[in-house]
Amino acid sequence: MTATRIDGKAFAAALRERVGSHALDFASKAGRKPGLAVVLVGEDPASQVYVGSKGKATVAAGMESFEHRLPADTSADALLALVDKLNADENIDGILVQLPLPDHLDEHSIIASISPDKDVDGFHVINAGRLSVGQSGFVPCTPLGCMMLLTDRLGDLSGLEAVVIGRSNIVGKPMAQLLLDANATVTIAHSRTKDLAAVVKRADIVVAAVGRPNMIGKDWLKPGATVIDVGINRLPPEPGKEKGKLVGDVAFDEASEVAGAITPVPGGVGPMTIAVLLRNTLVAAHRNAGLAVPEGI
Ligand code: NAD
Repeated sequence: MTATRIDGKAFAAALRERVGSHALDFASKAGRKPGLAVVLVGEDPASQVYVGSKGKATVAAGMESFEHRLPADTSADALLALVDKLNADENIDGILVQLPLPDHLDEHSIIASISPDKDVDGFHVINAGRLSVGQSGFVPCTPLGCMMLLTDRLGDLSGLEAVVIGRSNIVGKPMAQLLLDANATVTIAHSRTKDLAAVVKRADIVVAAVGRPNMIGKDWLKPGATVIDVGINRLPPEPGKEKGKLVGDVAFDEASEVAGAITPVPGGVGPMTIAVLLRNTLVAAHRNAGLAVPEGI
């Protein structure tokens, strides 16, 4: 058997199109575009790239992008004052503070200062709480993107065995919560799980969010399983090459011999994250303007 390759890149492009057309609609009703503010503190090169691509994608989806690039030695008070200003700004629907922050800034208190109704990353404890009790709030972009790929592929997830590997607040925990809401039977595995291979072998759905290159081989998988690979790992460069290859947590080629469907890295989950960020911003804009959130977005 050769697994179907789940094309996250194409799915994300279609989602961005839909968001773009709803954003146009929103602008005609609300008299302004949906607005996303992105705050970057410091010069972390990867974060600079992420912030740049988020800004471009926001504008391409017909939204307003507000970028705030602050020096690495910005004080907590100055950052909190900026977040307060963005919270109060009616042209801004979503606020994202790019992580990681420099060591002297406490991530929890900065995230806690963002209005939960503008927290389009879904990292605020209020939104984590809403997710866990089944209220509508904002769900972190990467797991929501994984969920969209899963339901697109499988439809109803009721009663399926799902194993999420990884228990971070950003991916593993919200992913498990979403699967539970969809009536899957969910196991969260992590670094202390005993006999991980046997746990994974039970799963109809495997979501790998660990950060260890090619950790999951074909022997771990139940034949026909749907595999969502969140991991992004850079291998050491081959001789003569400047950069190493990007791979996921799943050994893609061999896993494809056993799985029913699998996301590649790159081109699987990665592109979904920004597309869902735009989707969340569109939803925030409608809620903030008192307009009905478009269906099926
Ligand atoms: P994290 O480091 O916060 O969490 C990793 C989790 O893996 C931990 O909960 C840990 O318990 C578990 N773990 C570690 N070693 C393990 C082992 N040997 N066996 C089983 N579990 C183990 O990471 P994260 O932020 O959740 O990210 C996970 C991966 O997903 C990383 O590769 C990251 O780059 C990637 N990621 C991708 C996207 C995307 O847009 N595609 C977004 C976020 C994270």
